[in-house]
Amino acid sequence: MISFYPGPSRVYPEIPRYVQEAYEAGLLSANHRSPEFVEVSRKVIHLLHERLQIPKDYMIFFTSSATECWEIISQSLVSKESFHFYNGAFGEKWLQYARQLQPAAEGVAFGLEQILPIDYQIDTTAELIAVTHNETSNGTAVSMELIRQLRDRHPDQLIAVDATSSMAGDLLDFSAADVWYASVQKCFGLPAGLAVMVCSPRALQRAAEIGEKGHYNSLLYLQQMIENYQTTYTPNVLGIYLLMRVMEERPGMEQTATQLQKRYQRYKKELENFPFAEMLVKNDEVRSLTVLALQADKKVIDQLRQQGREAGLVLGNGYGAWKETTLRIANFPAILEDEVEKLIDFLKRFSM
Ligand SMILES: *Cc1c(COP(=O)(O)O)cnc(C)c1O
Repeated sequence: MISFYPGPSRVYPEIPRYVQEAYEAGLLSANHRSPEFVEVSRKVIHLLHERLQIPKDYMIFFTSSATECWEIISQSLVSKESFHFYNGAFGEKWLQYARQLQPAAEGVAFGLEQILPIDYQIDTTAELIAVTHNETSNGTAVSMELIRQLRDRHPDQLIAVDATSSMAGDLLDFSAADVWYASVQKCFGLPAGLAVMVCSPRALQRAAEIGEKGHYNSLLYLQQMIENYQTTYTPNVLGIYLLMRVMEERPGMEQTATQLQKRYQRYKKELENFPFAEMLVKNDEVRSLTVLALQADKKVIDQLRQQGREAGLVLGNGYGAWKETTLRIANFPAILEDEVEKLIDFLKRFSM
């Protein structure tokens, strides 16, 4: 079965070999304070900076999930109030998690076809502005230009960006915001259970001003430990090793993004002529590169998924408000060229 599910998603076919390597190197039983682990961790951080073009003065942290990052941001980077833009299920969930920790968190929903409403009047009391770069639930994305404009408009606030389903697939301009995070079971093509969080010097300065130290994952503790390439708890050592191997073997981001853009154009062309379903998002400007959402009535969606399965293709179901009438196709780097061909071929032949 070939998975086009947008997370957990298809993992790189080399993963079993890398796991074997980690086992043989004794890494799976290595202490997380040992020089062996520290060496792997140091390498991963170096590779992430280099391959994803993360500014040198931004720090990279290991966490266990994007959800954990939602909590870390509220607890360690906001003393009272954050502001959230959302147009789908993940952005809205982030606001809900923020509210659990800080009831003053506010947000505004914007439309599926709408660009990020950067001129929205945000309360001056908001300390951090939250944006979901790639809304996995509906296949929309926010451009880097808009994130930069948002930052220019709000020089005193931190900008935090959920890039869970775009980091390592789409080109991100890290310098345009203060906090970026992603779990690895999407564009990184790895098994779940690890996430990376990237913080600007400004974000770290804010954490120091707030001084929050009440949790095992308080950002100040994470920072103290990662300065020596370590974590506050026993981390997902295997996941970190796999991340290192994948980063070592992957081409640079430009090449990856160009490959995904080519695939996206092929899907787009195919879907323009596809009589059974259409792209959920009509506005090209807000469409995601890495997650495509197709819309049709429920009968067609059911048939596409069922016949897909029979052809060995797992298509992602819809999510949230779009559960029944959409399906999602991951355009992630770990999906192989001939697997994309198989899906396009399936769409060409589909009938009901
Ligand atoms: C998948 C996803 C999450 C949640 O990731 P977890 O690793 O399950 O915490 C958050 N935000 C977005 C945009 C996602 O796609």
